[in-house]
Amino acid sequence: MTHIPKNMAADTIDFKAYLQMAIDFFAGPELIRKARKGMRKVCGLTFPFPDLIMAGGAVPAFIPRLNKGPKYNLIKTALSARNLLGMGTLARGLSFLKQIDSTGTVLDIAGSVINDIILELNETYESAVKEGVDLGMPNDHCYGAKALFGLYKRLGNLLDFNLGINIRCSVFFAYHEALTINRFVDNNFIMDMPYDPSSTALEFMMEEIESFIEFQEKITGKRFSIEKFYDVLSLSNRVKELMKVIYFEIAPGDMIPCSPATFSELQSLLVYSHIDYNSRLKRYVENLEALVQEMHDRIDQPRKRFDASDHLKIIYTPMFGGFEPEIASFADEMNARIYYPDWAIYGVYEPVKLKGNLIRNYAEHLMHFQHGIGLSNEEMVNNIIQVGEEMNADGIIFTEVFGCRSMCTGHRLLRDILRRKDTSTIPVNVITFENMGNSIESIKTRFSAFLEMIRAE
Ligand code: SF4
Repeated sequence: MTHIPKNMAADTIDFKAYLQMAIDFFAGPELIRKARKGMRKVCGLTFPFPDLIMAGGAVPAFIPRLNKGPKYNLIKTALSARNLLGMGTLARGLSFLKQIDSTGTVLDIAGSVINDIILELNETYESAVKEGVDLGMPNDHCYGAKALFGLYKRLGNLLDFNLGINIRCSVFFAYHEALTINRFVDNNFIMDMPYDPSSTALEFMMEEIESFIEFQEKITGKRFSIEKFYDVLSLSNRVKELMKVIYFEIAPGDMIPCSPATFSELQSLLVYSHIDYNSRLKRYVENLEALVQEMHDRIDQPRKRFDASDHLKIIYTPMFGGFEPEIASFADEMNARIYYPDWAIYGVYEPVKLKGNLIRNYAEHLMHFQHGIGLSNEEMVNNIIQVGEEMNADGIIFTEVFGCRSMCTGHRLLRDILRRKDTSTIPVNVITFENMGNSIESIKTRFSAFLEMIRAE
């Protein structure tokens, strides 16, 4: 069982904007209920491109958010308390517990509510992987594909339709097809992405977008509005701008707004919630603006900020085939901080052009994502290095996911390219991942040795 560093619980309870985003993230089942009541259709998705869905009047939903775990009652209580008292009072109420608690027991319980639910999300993935394999997903497929397969089997019936985007990976392609074949989700649209940068490829991408719009209109009965698409893209560009502030301005600083472990967990929330913008874009932008503001305010307050000047900055990527969240807890004990900049690496934070043909601009944006993941591993590792340098990373942990014969084989190339570079060079450590919690002690030892090596250089 993953443990929670104590300062993480303490941080969470008085970090109002973080609590707010976390509650919205975990309120997925409530959102489905409301969507149904308002006769709105719900669309599943896996990659952070909810814009077409939102502009079409449907509700995007990243499927793990729809799981009602045993701790869902806590979220319901928090939702009612927030509706009744407002977010500020809820956060103050929680921090009041901190003041009356001299033993730390209440603090741990109150502060770890969100942490517990995040752990539960990890457990959801774990059980979904087992279900995926029981249902016939080959065991030597990667963790991420098996988990999603299991989750769609369990929760796909809550969706009216689904948008899958193919990337250069045969396992992911097979997983998308399997959702349709096994009828885990009604109306599964698989968007193909061209693997070359030609103008014909761009036209193909535009046709894929048009086909999805047509498909969506038939399901929702609503016409896609270009004006609404413009509004959605403007807001979503604001999200990207704010994410860049967090990753490239706040995260690399000596003073950070909370403990490194909390910061890691907050980032995993940002990565996951970016996929569907917690299903409500305007509110997501407001929350994110409040979050960035609160981060700056905390950094200005010696009592709340965390002096991380002696903490090594380690980026951990790729995380989407599966990753070990426990490393962030180890880092906390070992004077290091773990950052998850996957979306920055894949180019998701680049804005969509708002002038001219929006469908063309969006097609370019999707193809930019293909280049982010990389039309080849070489392209991908160059993106990792670029983001590593921009974030002033002291080291890179590269996840080698068991069963991945595609992106996760890029670590040799990453080391080679870094070795050939005569300017900056960032040390790389490869951590093999099969399931969460597997070989945890040996991961800890290797991680600690990696940090020692960086310090000795
Ligand atoms: S982790 Fe590897 S096998 Fe799994 S979806 Fe990603 S690229 Fe494909």
